[in-house]
Amino acid sequence: MSLMTKEQYVESLRKLNLKVYMFGELVENPVDHPIIKPSMNSVGMTYEMAQHPEYEDLMTVTSNLTGKKVNRFTHLHQSTSDLIKKVKMQRMLGQKTAACFQRCVGMDAANALYSTTFETDKAHGTKYFENFKKYWTMIQETDFTVDGAMTDPKGDRGLGPVEQSDPDMFLRVVERRPDGVVVRGAKVHQTGIVNSQEVIVMPTIALRPEDKDYAIAFAVPTDADGLFMIYGRQSCDTRKLEEGADIDVGNKEFGGHEALTIFDNVFVPNDRIFLNGETEFAGMLVERFAGYHRQSYGGCKVGVGDVLIGAAALAADYNGAHKASHVKDKLIEMTHLNETLYSSGIACSAEGYPTEAGNYQIDLLLANVCKQNVTRFPYEITRLAEDIAGGLMVTMPSEKDFKDPVLGKYINKYLQGVATVSTENRMRILRLIENITLGTAAVGYRTESMHGAGSPQAQRIMIARQGNLAQKKELAKKIARIDESQNKK
Ligand code: SF4
Ligand code: FE
Repeated sequence: MSLMTKEQYVESLRKLNLKVYMFGELVENPVDHPIIKPSMNSVGMTYEMAQHPEYEDLMTVTSNLTGKKVNRFTHLHQSTSDLIKKVKMQRMLGQKTAACFQRCVGMDAANALYSTTFETDKAHGTKYFENFKKYWTMIQETDFTVDGAMTDPKGDRGLGPVEQSDPDMFLRVVERRPDGVVVRGAKVHQTGIVNSQEVIVMPTIALRPEDKDYAIAFAVPTDADGLFMIYGRQSCDTRKLEEGADIDVGNKEFGGHEALTIFDNVFVPNDRIFLNGETEFAGMLVERFAGYHRQSYGGCKVGVGDVLIGAAALAADYNGAHKASHVKDKLIEMTHLNETLYSSGIACSAEGYPTEAGNYQIDLLLANVCKQNVTRFPYEITRLAEDIAGGLMVTMPSEKDFKDPVLGKYINKYLQGVATVSTENRMRILRLIENITLGTAAVGYRTESMHGAGSPQAQRIMIARQGNLAQKKELAKKIARIDESQNKK
């Protein structure tokens, strides 16, 4: 099997013995849990669309490892065209789900590991590239969803891994055995881990020689012994538990999730290890993974932005404000900002280049510019959507009141906008805007735009490093006809 259907994907999740905790309890059946299920449906779309003839070119591709047709989410990019299609695929899925569809982290981790293991082996004579190719061939054959786990808790941000008062604040090797290693630590805000069959773990920062035990990259099944997850709380999440919840959830079918993931003495066999002590390659792995994921945001966030812009325009249609010039102008501004994000996602892909291993890497400077814009523009798009939506978005009575035989007729009468539009439809679009800007999807659209794929300062460090200021100074000197030999010594 190279391409799974959504049904096969769901069935394979059912077979896992995941340990997921929520509200202090072990979740017996994550697949059917009303809070988790919408996030599983979002990942499910990556399977569904791969079966869809209209999206065949975006969603599927020929593998360089097996020569078979695979889902693009398991692909090792072979050209700039592959990189561009990746971003287009992410925009399309953002449009279809209005949520985080989670599967990109594994794709980005795989591409970063493929090139980094190759270069590590070249320097150290290790066998990580072979290990990774074997592992990833299995992933392409099974079409599993793989989570990419990078972010450690980090404890005191002023201290490195070995200086922390608790040495587990960065995930580390605690035991070395002939057949593998035992690791302990945690990875925070793990996107989609409950919907993944496998997880790839990587270091979170560039490391120094004394950090050897922290220079570990590997993959384990998500139901490995000692691995468990504590589900992340989202704003308005318990609305999904209300009986008959529909209008009030804003987006009934789709969502995203993150979880605090604990590795409590997890055994990793040798053939699933992709870095083990080669500290100088941790920085390369982090930089490449972050670069790919910053590119990703130029696709997924744009797709969700498309839905939000559409929702804001409908809210104006439904209350009769759509002809006002300031409303039209706000929609233009939202579109301009959204397409600017897309432009840098496409640009960093078009400027990609082959790595020594042969897969394609994005342009790091442009990917970091892309993500830096993402830390800002969705906030402005959100502000404008809230401006157009009006205060009713956050003061409206509940669906239960709307459906109440006595109260409902008053809500229906007084929340009517344009006479031809039903009050229910007006409520639905306002709840969708609320969901994306303040509700469960705000994790994936708003706050994740700030911190996902690295907080703003992380991109500014990369922009400083990649910006080539020295060359720019030379350009200015030449035009200004500066002769520095005339300067005082
Ligand atoms: Fe993919 Fe975007 Fe979610 Fe990251 S935030 S996993 S890029 S959809
Ligand atoms: Fe993310």
